[in-house]
Amino acid sequence: MWLPVTLNRPLIWVALTALPACVWLPDSGLRLVAALLVALGLWDAWKQVRQQRLRLRLTQDTLGLASDAMVISDEQNRIIAINPAFTEITGYTGPEVQGVKLETLAAPRHDKAFYQKLWGTLKSTGRWEGEMWSQRKSGDEYPEWLKVRAVTDKRGKVTHFINLFTDISAQKARENDLRRIGFEDPLTGLPNRRRLHDLLASRLRHIRAGESLDMALIDIDGFKSVNDSLGVEQGDRLLARFAQRLTSYVAGSVVGRLGGDEFMVIRTTTFDDHDQWIATLREHMSRPFEMNDQSLRLGLTIGSCRVPEDGNDSGVLFQRLESALYSAKRLGRNLSQRFRPALDKQDNPQLALVSDLRAALISGDQLELHFQTQHQPSNGAVVGMEALLRWRHPRDGMISPGDFIPLAERHGLMSQLGAWVIEKACAQQAHWRHRNMPKLTIWVNISALQLFQGDLESQLATCLKRYQLLPSQIGLELTESVLLDERAGEMRPRLQGLRDQGFAIAIDDFGTGYSSLGYLKRLPVDKIKLDRAFIKDLPNDQADAAIVKAVLAMAEGMGLEVIAEGVETKEQCQFLVTAGCMSVQGFYFARPMPAEDLEKRLAPAPLASHSAS
Ligand code: C2E
Ligand code: CA
Ligand code: CA
Repeated sequence: MWLPVTLNRPLIWVALTALPACVWLPDSGLRLVAALLVALGLWDAWKQVRQQRLRLRLTQDTLGLASDAMVISDEQNRIIAINPAFTEITGYTGPEVQGVKLETLAAPRHDKAFYQKLWGTLKSTGRWEGEMWSQRKSGDEYPEWLKVRAVTDKRGKVTHFINLFTDISAQKARENDLRRIGFEDPLTGLPNRRRLHDLLASRLRHIRAGESLDMALIDIDGFKSVNDSLGVEQGDRLLARFAQRLTSYVAGSVVGRLGGDEFMVIRTTTFDDHDQWIATLREHMSRPFEMNDQSLRLGLTIGSCRVPEDGNDSGVLFQRLESALYSAKRLGRNLSQRFRPALDKQDNPQLALVSDLRAALISGDQLELHFQTQHQPSNGAVVGMEALLRWRHPRDGMISPGDFIPLAERHGLMSQLGAWVIEKACAQQAHWRHRNMPKLTIWVNISALQLFQGDLESQLATCLKRYQLLPSQIGLELTESVLLDERAGEMRPRLQGLRDQGFAIAIDDFGTGYSSLGYLKRLPVDKIKLDRAFIKDLPNDQADAAIVKAVLAMAEGMGLEVIAEGVETKEQCQFLVTAGCMSVQGFYFARPMPAEDLEKRLAPAPLASHSAS
């Protein structure tokens, strides 16, 4: 590379001419002069070589340090040289791409018109800059920001291209996160609940004389067992495929995902064929899905309603669709049920239960708070406890919070119920303080609705004052889905406010939502509660073992504590000790129990006094 440049130097030509003269010149004095000229020429050339080498090394070092990937290609865009950042981003080493046409590394996402425009600009202006999708050696596609400059010779002919690019996938992911948190279901890309409300409202506004809306809420039967048998990843794939099929089948209609395995379709129509429409929808969506050489036929439960017959307010219509769906579920699975006004009234056991819950809240004596201790896995020392709500129904016995809390949320009772829990937990904490029990933080579960319906902050403040407690004596557990629930508004400032007051905040059921770590990282939280789904099959399940270790490592890097929940066996506990987990909760150490039982357990020989204040 440097030799041709050296030959441009006049001194080397003088030396080359003088070389034969050293031999044939008769006079020894002249021969000496010729030899001196040769030596001078060689010295100059050697100096040049050194300088060129130095320059080359400096250039290489600079390119090596650059975090942008750099590629030099020839006039046919074949790769001549790359820098280390290129290898880091793409996975390709120099020898692997030497001579390869640069465009073959692009992802097959751009059409002919894109390249025509790129080359056109490059030819006319000598430069191009823009976003482009490329492919790593692993096959993964990623977005890059690419700058290309054409290098020309003296006559203006292109000899090389200099390509500079950065990997912008992280930036893109952040943008996507923000979009998702707003309006889009991240798994399927369909509108989420909030967006569906807007879309329904818009369709209602634009409805013309003679038109109606058909609405269907579709729930996949036993989807949990699909997840359990095929794994969550396959479950997600199935949901994505379901979404795709539904979207293409009802083209022109609104399709959205309300969460989990619930999908909604809204059609504007001039036909009066609601039942027929539902039947064909069901028939089409019940056709088998081919998954891993397995033919999966799904059972579907569908609730439906129609505008204007069943209402024309978007909030009411959503509620009625849900009523219809629950009534269909109650009648058995794989059924369709259109909304009937009666579903709003007494013949719905769900609603009967809601009215019982209202009564329970008023009387107060059917509700109880149980407590489950949290432990240091290495020695069993108690380090905290979680408050868990119990409802002792006078006729039906114990009802699981997993059943009645969603009901309370749907029927507007959650903020009242949540307030009851906070009050009770504070009262219990104060009682234990007076009895000199070990100082342990009581962790309380907070529902999304408490954040955006009730005034959580002032409720907490009132209770702390009433019972003379410090905020550090109460911890708040929010599930991952709460943190992502767009109805709660921007979570960051609220969490920051609570934390500034001194409350510790934990992300409950961590790993079950769709939140990206990037998003969680920005939230002010103290603790991650690793969902029991990841603990269940430890230590045998390789994937779960790897996830648990990765979360522990990541949390350490972010300065977060981790607690593992659902620890039931000695083996699970031992695995967690080895993996470096500092606290656990689960039946292995203790089940949730009434306050009096816990008092008996802790009072005689307190295991540890983890300071909570
Ligand atoms: P969660 O917050 O994830 O609570 C832990 C649940 O796991 C509790 O069920 C607990 O009894 C159970 N559990 C604890 N250790 C083990 C174990 O080793 N193995 C197994 N299989 N399960 C274990 P629970 O009490 O039925 O509560 C269910 C859910 O109800 C809670 O899940 C929480 O989401 C909700 N919940 C309970 N109390 C409240 C409350 O006061 N407010 C709100 N908003 N939600 C509550
Ligand atoms: Ca919890
Ligand atoms: Ca949990």
